[in-house]
Amino acid sequence: FSKPVIVAATKGDLKAAKNAEEEASRLGFPSVVAISGREGGNINELYMALENCAPGTEVDSVETSDKAPISIAFVGRPNVGKSSLVNALLGEERVLTGEMAGLTRDAIRCRWEHNGTAYQLVDTAGLRKKAGVVDDLEKAAVGDTVQAITLAQICILVVDASRKIEKQDLAIGHLVAREGRGIVVAANKWDLVKASDRKEVLEELRHQMNHGMSQCGDVPIVTLSALKGRDLPSLLEAIGSTYTKWQRRIPTAKLNQWLGEALQRHPEPVVAGRRVKIRYVTQVKSRPPTFTLFLQRPLELPDSYIRYLENSLRQVFDLEGVPLRVQMKKQVNPYADKD
Ligand code: GDP
Repeated sequence: FSKPVIVAATKGDLKAAKNAEEEASRLGFPSVVAISGREGGNINELYMALENCAPGTEVDSVETSDKAPISIAFVGRPNVGKSSLVNALLGEERVLTGEMAGLTRDAIRCRWEHNGTAYQLVDTAGLRKKAGVVDDLEKAAVGDTVQAITLAQICILVVDASRKIEKQDLAIGHLVAREGRGIVVAANKWDLVKASDRKEVLEELRHQMNHGMSQCGDVPIVTLSALKGRDLPSLLEAIGSTYTKWQRRIPTAKLNQWLGEALQRHPEPVVAGRRVKIRYVTQVKSRPPTFTLFLQRPLELPDSYIRYLENSLRQVFDLEGVPLRVQMKKQVNPYADKD
């Protein structure tokens, strides 16, 4: 049938398996992997052999077509300049689509095209109108923010760079990261920050954002002025790059090669006298990138070690700034003795 064949020589911990591997190889099966259920050995190699048989099933590129609009919400405290920023971006190019069912000028989503890229802007002002007149403005603003985050893929956290960052700024950022949305911080009102203070202000902001959204690594920050219409192209660039990372897919073979190297650099810790062995890793989902590590005793892996792996993943695969999800799964061992 000319289907590819991989010979998996099981019970690879036994010497006999080694012989079987040689035997199968001699019979002309090109791909022989000696695996061990008991030891969990060589599962990586099995994955890689599978992937070699079906190239192109997992690619490094994006899942959706380039034409799909990037849906973006502008979130942040009142008065930081969200509306000003949206207006500055749209300017004369404002294109409101009334074609989608039920959408009017008060639409909560509007379509915008710029330099060949399609965006769908989630308009929080629209949300506010929809909610009607409410007594508790603060509460309404929180409701708007939550809804805008759930409707968007990428959130622009707008902050007022001329003032101190407040708890609420960080709380909104935290919410965005927790919901797994891509995030770009727009440090607005940069025109009000004295030139001599700028370096220090940016460093402080970077420190606070990275600390507040630790599951994202280095969060992208763009300094700009909505009022003066300054540095808006940098914001669009940051949105594009975050969107690409947010939907990145990494082939399993590459991931397991990375895992092997990461484990070699820092072997898994020993807990209660036994090494917590990680068998393999796979990306189960993108948007945001979500990875599963398979191991026999997932609960025993310390948080610090998980963080080491997350940081390494982020650096090696250029996932800086997007919320990563790493989950542990118990690897079922069919050869385990029943007790
Ligand atoms: P929102 O409540 O977050 O939508 O904030 P607005 O867009 O309504 O802006 C609040 C105030 O900040 C307004 O008076 C704006 O003119 C002002 N503002 C917005 N962006 C900038 C900016 O880049 N520089 C300065 N100096 N003022 C700004």
